[in-house]
Amino acid sequence: LNKALNEALPVLHLLEEHGYVAVFVGGCVRDTMMGRELKDVDIATSAEPQQVMALFPRHVPTGLAHGTITVMTGNGVYEITTFRKESAYEQFRRPAEVQFVTDLEADLLRRDFTINAMAMRGNGQLVDPFGGLNDLRHGTLRCVGEADARFQEDALRMVRAIRFAAEFRLRFEMGTWNALIRHRALLQHVAMERIGAEADKMISGSHPHRAAALFAASGLLHHTKVPLPQTLLILSGEKEASTPLPEPRHNQVMAMKELEKLSETDTRWTSLCLALGLTSEDAFQLAEALKFSNVRKAALAATVRIGNLMGIELDHALDGNRSEEQLRQLWLDTVIREGIGNASTWLTAVRTIPQLLAPEEERSFEIIAAEGLVVKLGQWLSDMPIRSLRELAIGGADAVRLLQRPEGPWLGQLLQGLLRAVIHGHVRNDRESLLAFMKENESELEKT
Ligand code: ATP
Ligand code: MG
Repeated sequence: LNKALNEALPVLHLLEEHGYVAVFVGGCVRDTMMGRELKDVDIATSAEPQQVMALFPRHVPTGLAHGTITVMTGNGVYEITTFRKESAYEQFRRPAEVQFVTDLEADLLRRDFTINAMAMRGNGQLVDPFGGLNDLRHGTLRCVGEADARFQEDALRMVRAIRFAAEFRLRFEMGTWNALIRHRALLQHVAMERIGAEADKMISGSHPHRAAALFAASGLLHHTKVPLPQTLLILSGEKEASTPLPEPRHNQVMAMKELEKLSETDTRWTSLCLALGLTSEDAFQLAEALKFSNVRKAALAATVRIGNLMGIELDHALDGNRSEEQLRQLWLDTVIREGIGNASTWLTAVRTIPQLLAPEEERSFEIIAAEGLVVKLGQWLSDMPIRSLRELAIGGADAVRLLQRPEGPWLGQLLQGLLRAVIHGHVRNDRESLLAFMKENESELEKT
């Protein structure tokens, strides 16, 4: 047992002392056998949810209908799920009902892939009825049981298959791959939230570009319930559609391979969209299709809008059609409009993956020149004297008093104009200068 499992051992022991079977199960066993660090430790038991709740006073019934109780102990937080089998799958989605059982093997049988269907007892003994360890050693991804039936029961498993194959560099067992190709159209029955959650795990994984390649080979992405942006479907080869999709270009492929260098998931999403040449509308549509939160949707659209705009402007600057001062002003306006956080996200993306500056073509010396300009953008950003209205040396009340006008929409516009003027260096951020500047430029400021 590794450290994380050892820390969870008291949970198994308490269940065992009361006569129940309890084991570690799923991802934590798989990751332990690979010597990986564990994300979380999941426990399965013959005890029913009521009995689990009685034994662990600090608990939250996070998935009572499916038999899952989350318990809090001094050592950590654990999900304990009652052994169950699933019957009566509903229309290629999750089971309509679950049935609790006392038999560990019946529980392992309902799990998706052999590598995920291993359990480990508290004494370290592996329970592996389907040869998961062997498959892991040989680098094989294989469904538990009949692949056809398993994908028909729950079509999300096809997406999960790609996620695990990409993450752990596994090859598909032939029957599993063939079944995936046969049943890919069933993905249309799966809730987009579930696909979105898997997509997030894929993009934040160790090899997102492998997942992309597997999507391309499988054609799976054509079959989501809510259609994904056309451009993104470059990732999903195998066209049944009328319009042929372009082959990914060299820089796009390169950029995809570099995604794993970025630490933030959302910076990776921005980079993916830019690498594939998505418009900000497409990026928004993608985020919406995958049921991202409103905050994430807006941020993704903004970072992609920044990337597309600045890509064009950097080109103009390199062609000599923009002076450095024009570029600086345009950049500062973009930062004010789209937000510093979003601007920084894009800077991080292009500093880490310079190919994003020229996804369409291979022009290495132009990329190098553009990288030089990006360094300047970063400098201009950090040189900004203030970053928000809150830092402005005067407030709304000052403006109302000085101009003797009743509050109204003009006020916000005026303050925004002052912020912009300070950031562009037209006026210093102290009360006196600002008040004088405001009096002089009242009508101008309101227009900005
Ligand atoms: P990760 O480390 O990425 O979270 P995981 O294996 O823990 O991987 P989870 O989605 O957390 O994946 O699921 C936990 C376990 O539940 C899996 O290992 C698998 O045994 C089982 N499981 C999850 N989703 C399904 C599904 N759709 N069909 C069958 N079994 C599933
Ligand atoms: Mg997990």
